[in-house]
Amino acid sequence: MKNRNIVERDLRVVWHPCTQMKDHETLPLIPVRRGEGVWLEDFEGNRYLDAVSSWWVNLFGHANPRINAAVAEQIGQLEHVILAGFTHEPVVRLSERLVQITPAGLDHCFYADNGSSAIEVALKMSYHYWRNSGRPEKTRFINLSNSYHGETLGALAVGDVSLYKETYEPLLLKPFTVPAPDCFDREPGESCAEVARRMFVHMEEALERHAHETCAVIVEPLVQCAGSMRMYDPVYLTLLREACDRHGVHLIADEIAVGFGRTGTLFACEQAGISPDFMCLSKGLTAGYLPLAATLTTGEVYQAFYDDYERMTAFLHSHSFTGNPLGCAAALATLDIFDSEPVLERNRTLAARMTAATAHLADHPHVADVRQTGMILAMEMVRDKTTRAPYPWQERRGLRVYRHALSRGALLRPLGSVVYMMPPYVITEEQIDFLAEVAAEGIDIATGGGGRVG
Ligand SMILES: *Cc1c(COP(=O)(O)O)cnc(C)c1O
Repeated sequence: MKNRNIVERDLRVVWHPCTQMKDHETLPLIPVRRGEGVWLEDFEGNRYLDAVSSWWVNLFGHANPRINAAVAEQIGQLEHVILAGFTHEPVVRLSERLVQITPAGLDHCFYADNGSSAIEVALKMSYHYWRNSGRPEKTRFINLSNSYHGETLGALAVGDVSLYKETYEPLLLKPFTVPAPDCFDREPGESCAEVARRMFVHMEEALERHAHETCAVIVEPLVQCAGSMRMYDPVYLTLLREACDRHGVHLIADEIAVGFGRTGTLFACEQAGISPDFMCLSKGLTAGYLPLAATLTTGEVYQAFYDDYERMTAFLHSHSFTGNPLGCAAALATLDIFDSEPVLERNRTLAARMTAATAHLADHPHVADVRQTGMILAMEMVRDKTTRAPYPWQERRGLRVYRHALSRGALLRPLGSVVYMMPPYVITEEQIDFLAEVAAEGIDIATGGGGRVG
């Protein structure tokens, strides 16, 4: 009965994110009392395997002893201090390490406290760089279709998921949107790299037409996570870097979701061998512990703001919790784990198990695609496998998978009709098999007993 008590109190006063609150008349709200490793536990002792890393943030499990200890130690020293005019050791150490581990040329770190704000910083900095450099006519951005960069108005504007954006359209900046090199749209026999090269023509065209008025191209490297976990080949990023240089346009890499090992490399940009002009980090930056975000940029950008105060070229942007010491301490402990344990190597084994455990779903009559990039694996349910006709969104097929998974003790929260796993890196191979089994059952139920083949 303890669950019911807290849920009733919650629904009287809490307005939940990304939720039609009326759904909770029938959909259970799960009150979590504690977490440990991959498990979340409610007030009655029921456990749920956190297959979505609590919205893609958690890397090394809940209540990770090393990160717990680091945050506890920091809280005894300094919980927070203004970062204008003052500094502290955690933010200095974190910045040194981020500069070291991110792609070459990203030499300066600006902090915020959530991913959307890190995007706002990158957009404003890029525009302001061009203005400081005598190019105030550069005011536009180029983005990809189906992209997602957050919910604040600037970040929402450069995204392209209509579910989140359409309502607010009258309030938003207007980017030039180029069709994404989505490998889901491949022709028979075509490879993802070929799709990327074919689709790059549209980007080249947009740059040719609009470079003179464009500040930056913004992309999510390799995986459009909120855009149904659609994936594309790294060669697109290689071509994009070259084209941005040629056209005098910045490249913003939003690694908020894909950074810190999700795609198999520490940063997704590494797979294309490129350095962006701006890299936005959050989510896994603190292993999902605390709200912290960083926008890294180059010495060239930094220098364009560096001048006498009277010249009014400074970046006068701040957030109250900019560079919070507790967040920095959690981030440093996270990087310590990457340094002292073979995380990426272990993830390769786990990713291979994810592949193997879900391979049979490729033959499912209502699964159009099983795709994977590193530790992100997605299964797309469709009404008709041959034409890839989607289910009408009103049918909320994914919700049936979600409900089934809860009944089996797993938190699998689909995006529309796309069921995915993006687990914490401390998951075991057996737990992956369990998730795959639950996902397969859920897909069967949601697609009306299509039946498992094989
Ligand atoms: C989550 C996300 C954001 C926004 O981060 P918030 O902390 O939720 O504001 C931006 N870009 C990508 C790619 C994301 O996945």
